Amino acid sequence: MKQRSKPKKGLARLLELAGAKKQKLIAACLLSVLSSAARIVPFFTIYNVILELLRHYTDLDQINSMRIFICTAITFAAVLLYGICAFSSSALAHTAAYDIIYELRLKLVEKLSRIPSGYFTHTTQGAIKKILSDDAEQLEVFLAHHICDIATAITMPVFTLLYLFFMDYRLALVTLAPIVISFCLLSTCLNKPDKAALQVELANAQETMQGTIVEYIHGMPVVKVFNRTLSAFQRYERDLSNFVHVVSKTAHANAKPMGAYYAFFGAQLLFLIPASLLLIPTAKSYLDFLPVVLLFFLVGSGLKEPMEDMMVKVLDSNRVIEGMNRIDGILMQDEISETGTGNPTGYDVTFEQVSFSYSEGTQAVRNVSFRLPADSVTGLVGPSGGGKSTLAQLILRFYEPQQGRICIGGVDIRNISPARLTQLVSYVFQDSFLFHDTVENNIRMGNTTASQKQVEQAAKNAGIHDTIMALPKGYATVIGEQDAYLSGGEKQRLAIARVFLRDTPIIILDEATAYADAENEANIQQAFARLSRGKTVLMIAHRLKTVERADQLLVMDTGELVGAGTHERLLKDCGPYAGLVAANERRDRWTIKRSGKGGDAE
Ligand code: ADP
Repeated sequence: MKQRSKPKKGLARLLELAGAKKQKLIAACLLSVLSSAARIVPFFTIYNVILELLRHYTDLDQINSMRIFICTAITFAAVLLYGICAFSSSALAHTAAYDIIYELRLKLVEKLSRIPSGYFTHTTQGAIKKILSDDAEQLEVFLAHHICDIATAITMPVFTLLYLFFMDYRLALVTLAPIVISFCLLSTCLNKPDKAALQVELANAQETMQGTIVEYIHGMPVVKVFNRTLSAFQRYERDLSNFVHVVSKTAHANAKPMGAYYAFFGAQLLFLIPASLLLIPTAKSYLDFLPVVLLFFLVGSGLKEPMEDMMVKVLDSNRVIEGMNRIDGILMQDEISETGTGNPTGYDVTFEQVSFSYSEGTQAVRNVSFRLPADSVTGLVGPSGGGKSTLAQLILRFYEPQQGRICIGGVDIRNISPARLTQLVSYVFQDSFLFHDTVENNIRMGNTTASQKQVEQAAKNAGIHDTIMALPKGYATVIGEQDAYLSGGEKQRLAIARVFLRDTPIIILDEATAYADAENEANIQQAFARLSRGKTVLMIAHRLKTVERADQLLVMDTGELVGAGTHERLLKDCGPYAGLVAANERRDRWTIKRSGKGGDAE
């Protein structure tokens, strides 16, 4: 397993994720700062116009019209500069954000394909979907809009305050007072550990609820079949009410600090009016002081908006950082090593004292050793939960054994790269997944470079060619469209065609338990037989009849290998196998008899 170095946090991590697009983001922020500087300019020109008007209000002819004209021209230029800078900043930030998120989503999907399948057993589809879709989207919005807004939200008040201090430091301090008071009140409340914990609890409750919703929707057919009402679906209801509870708890906890914050934050005039009245007697000239007071009334009360913006963006960025941590939760997962250089030339598979458990405590496979000789068929049998599928998945490195080793041709599979391993081993699942794509492309998954003829030959070998030709567009039919659906048995034959095309020396077959009809079953058995020729085959069999003639049989029971040998030998020497055979025979004899009163089973 490859361990990645510890990641950076917060904005530093965001810039790291931005990679080569970092320069674009920085340029967007600088343009945004310039646009906010341009927004201050009209306040300066208005002040000068008012000053000029008040100085000559007794004799309007004395007004310097050139000064008024220059002020107007400067205002116009500032507005134009603001427009150009704001537009360019937004365009740059948007293109950078789209590129960054596009690459991030690709990175996430590639990563998901490289981490052991065990990750997916304890992470719900909903949680993964939330990370790939919602968290990534939130990051996109943040990069496209908020990062520049934050730059503006910080610089705009700074420029404004510098200007106000330049005009009159006493009134500037008064303007600042309510803002400082409200920030102090809010931050002392919100920085308490219980408030921070509440935010985390809120995000977790939301993630759990979304995960459960996705599962609920996926499980809808089962819910309907068993006529389970919404309230019967307890986990869904529980997670939903837990989310509502956490939302209301967070709202109550934040009500007081937010109330105090809003009360003080916009109260500049409340402080400025009495302060101005107190300061009038100290002014050298009433006519010069009046425009300054008007300027503070105008600009001081306008300070609230960018400051408030900054607050919202900072709170938002916390949410983005939590989402980024979840994204990192995937990006930092251990990967299956890609670097294995082992290249086996023999194709026998050996298990040497292999133990594996999904979670601490119970072992799904316990100290198991056996050999699958090349060019032979091995049947894997045993009661449900015995560990058969786990054994098969260990060969594919879906999981890593905690003890022992698995070798192909004498090479430990941990030293074989995943790419090479997929050239060596194919797996026909019991319930094969077909993509919403053409039949041809579904088969071609086995070998994307195969010719049309090879695809057809594989389908013929798998005994599915005639079924495909009967579909509306033959091999070009998209599964699931134009009423083109395949039965369970037909799907499995399509999956077998994929494996024919792949032509790997080792094949693992998981026998489907429920074929639609006897003809389908016979077709599949024939396809299995053709596929097995000259290969190392491990066949998980749920009906013993299918593997009675195999070269050897392995019997798994509660994670242990309790027998190995031929059918006849095991019947004699292996009690659990004899028990399985007896149970199979009873099942085959099982019929529903008619009785006078109704159905009866034997
Ligand atoms: P079989 O294929 O013989 O029915 P499995 O290999 O599926 O048996 O299961 C072996 C044991 O491992 C069982 O106790 C089963 O509950 C457990 N198990 C199987 N898959 C998982 C999983 N993804 N997570 C946790 N436990 C599992």
